[in-house]
Amino acid sequence: MSLALFRWSFLLACLLSTVALAGESRPRRQKEKAAKLVRVEGGHRLHRDTATALKRMATDALKDNVALRVTSGYRSLREQRFLYDQYRRGRGNKAARPGRSNHQRGLAVDLVIGERTSKRYLWLEANACRFGFRRTVPSEPWHWEYRPSSTFPPVVGFDCLGNPTTSREPPAPIARTDAS
Ligand SMILES: [Zn+2]
Repeated sequence: MSLALFRWSFLLACLLSTVALAGESRPRRQKEKAAKLVRVEGGHRLHRDTATALKRMATDALKDNVALRVTSGYRSLREQRFLYDQYRRGRGNKAARPGRSNHQRGLAVDLVIGERTSKRYLWLEANACRFGFRRTVPSEPWHWEYRPSSTFPPVVGFDCLGNPTTSREPPAPIARTDAS
């Protein structure tokens, strides 16, 4: 191959890959819009209802000097497939089968937890239900799902574990419907 021909083929390859990438980003944006995704702390994405509830919970946690940090939110089918493959090969945490994870709906969020005795974890156990969040995977203390229609707030004066609370005002009630 002559040098000139090589240069032309290289240029053409670059041009084609640019066109391919541009074509890929639009459907992705449309999918995100259809899934009602919004960006949250750390650049992660969540369903907008999950994001709103998480923001309220994080604000409340800060009053107790607990900072909630997100490590994983919405995942595309491709991302979930990758994590599931890693899990199957024994290289990653447990991951649901592609298509069966609530991360793909933007309703699940993974948070920095540390130990089960950490202040963050204990705070979540005692308070997350007030914001419609609960744990759904026993082996994953970092995994919380927004399920407001089936997660009930505690009786006034008690926390989510049934322990008496201090005098702090409970938050205003939230809509008890699951995100669609
Ligand atoms: Zn998770």
